[in-house]
Amino acid sequence: MKIFITGGAGYIGTHTCVELLQKGYDLVVYDNFSNSSAEAIRRVESITGKTLTLIIGDIRDEDTMMAAMEGCDAVIHLAGLKAVGESVEKPLDYYDNNVHGTLCLLRAMKINNIKTLVFSSSATVYGNPIELPFTERHPLQPTNPYGQTKLVVEEILRDLYRSDNSWKIIILRYFNPVGAHPSGLIGENPQGIPNNLMPYIAQVAIGRREFLNVFGNDYPTHDGTGVRDYIHIVDLAQGHIKALEALELPQCTPINLGTGQGYSVLDIVKAFSNASRKEVPYIIAPRRPGDIAEFYADPSFAQEFIQWSASKSLEDMCRDTWNFQFKNPDGYRL
Ligand code: NAD
Ligand code: UDP
Repeated sequence: MKIFITGGAGYIGTHTCVELLQKGYDLVVYDNFSNSSAEAIRRVESITGKTLTLIIGDIRDEDTMMAAMEGCDAVIHLAGLKAVGESVEKPLDYYDNNVHGTLCLLRAMKINNIKTLVFSSSATVYGNPIELPFTERHPLQPTNPYGQTKLVVEEILRDLYRSDNSWKIIILRYFNPVGAHPSGLIGENPQGIPNNLMPYIAQVAIGRREFLNVFGNDYPTHDGTGVRDYIHIVDLAQGHIKALEALELPQCTPINLGTGQGYSVLDIVKAFSNASRKEVPYIIAPRRPGDIAEFYADPSFAQEFIQWSASKSLEDMCRDTWNFQFKNPDGYRL
């Protein structure tokens, strides 16, 4: 089976490529390298001892993409912009890349008669929790443009399926992916100052940043700091394979990929210090605007529907993040 992966050179993409290659799938990665490089793909090939086809292109370039996906059986669509703060400043870029880009992809798929799709959505589509844990039935009320782009794409996919119920679509709503491949060859490679907690902590531990700002310690959580459902990137990558394998019948189904377990910022700081044997100095800073106190998944539908559940612990997540950071102190050499 040959899979077309948009955004396959990115953080989630590279780990998904490794799992797919190891399972014997043929791959075509399509990426414009706006947040990645060929080095990431070289490392995927070095981990697996296998090769894949890499095509450099933008998902909004319909003609190039149409030619690139010829002969593929299914698509995993990961390409997109993902920074919440940036999406507030540049909403047009986000709608253009994430929504317009996906429309181009769906048209190209239709013309190539490829109707099997796994789409990267996000738990951000839920917005402020009315009830926790989040089930897939929770109302969808994103609170920022990035989340809106994911919701709009979800709605497009639901409409598409309604119009032609031969499509086979799974929408994966990721919680907080962290960690790295145990080889230490691939991992998260943020450009500039990391927005997310785990890469920020890793850079403090390696000495690239002086201290962590803990955004608020007055939330109604067990220690006052924000609680999230962190999921190991290898578990998340394997969720894509389970989703593909489950796509035998036509459908359009959203599935949470999370662990069901919430950890606070200070839980993560402590676990990371233990894993790295490094101090992680921190200060308590004001709340980050727009942050939610606590959110975590109900992952039971994933278990029931695609026979997937997360197997890696917080210790694994911290150890593998540290291993990648330690071996690549300045990220990938581009
Ligand atoms: P990433 O930035 O590491 O990977 C995205 C890849 O897509 C990059 O390689 C980038 O170069 C490529 N890309 C971006 N725009 C493109 C375009 N127009 N044409 C072709 N390629 C393009 O991000 P990631 O963390 O791997 O995220 C992958 C997907 O998962 C995104 O859609 C993101 O919104 C979603 N997601 C990520 C998280 C997270 O915390 N990492 C959480 C929920 C959902
Ligand atoms: N956080 C923090 N300092 C940072 C980055 C994040 O205290 O430098 C907190 C943030 O307020 C949230 C948690 O860590 O409670 C996870 O944040 P992240 O940005 O990684 O994920 P998201 O908020 O998008 O779920």
